[in-house]
Amino acid sequence: MTDTSNRWPDVLEGLAQRPQILLALDFDGTLSEIVERPEDAVLRPGNAALLAELGRNPRFTLAVISGRALNDVSDRVGVPGLIYGGNHGLELRGPGLDYLHPAAAAAVPAMVDASERLAVDLRDIPGALVESKVLTLTAHYRLTPPQYHDSVAMLFLDAVGPLLATGACRVTAAKMAMELRPAVDWHKGHALDLIRFQLAPEAFTMYVGDDDTDEDAFLAAQNAGGVGIYVGPPDVDSGALLRLDSPAEVTAALTELAALG
Ligand SMILES: [Mg+2]
Repeated sequence: MTDTSNRWPDVLEGLAQRPQILLALDFDGTLSEIVERPEDAVLRPGNAALLAELGRNPRFTLAVISGRALNDVSDRVGVPGLIYGGNHGLELRGPGLDYLHPAAAAAVPAMVDASERLAVDLRDIPGALVESKVLTLTAHYRLTPPQYHDSVAMLFLDAVGPLLATGACRVTAAKMAMELRPAVDWHKGHALDLIRFQLAPEAFTMYVGDDDTDEDAFLAAQNAGGVGIYVGPPDVDSGALLRLDSPAEVTAALTELAALG
């Protein structure tokens, strides 16, 4: 991608003229630092107060959309009055919005079965973690020595194979993780569109995230005339128009947004 990070000040200047702004952010690696164990992730210092301040500002519609389960991400952020999206937006909840994708709800029993089998199959792989998020399932291997990574992938695909064969579910790759999701045409970009249509159709739309699964939301924001903001180093190929280096820069950007008033 083109390194366009120096254009953030231009975007910020343009926002001063915007009466309505929809700001949606990922959680892990965006509002939180990346941690070795997903259960240790917390908001960066200052972010809770900044999100609360922006959430109270009538110009802003604020959403946090995560791959985590909805209750997990809303508990970790803990700021009332925001829109929270869990499982990449298959479930959305907040003021004026309460959504659960029907096909995702129907796949829950099969997800529970797969989660139980994987917990057994991966128990001998060092560092492998199975995270059941009810609507989806993730096997993490960030803590697993590299020589086991192929085994994790094989065991994962073996365990979920029968489900893939039914067409009810599909596998997606994330950072050092494999995810099983309901095979529905749905991603963070659809979730962002739904929030925009329902709550802020006229808003200038921004989406901030650091992972492959955020790319759909960057494009959704940009297709709506807004911007996607990739968080991470400049050598990563992203469709986002803008880039911030790190979660610390996200906090700095939120500070500047709050100062817009
Ligand atoms: Mg992330």
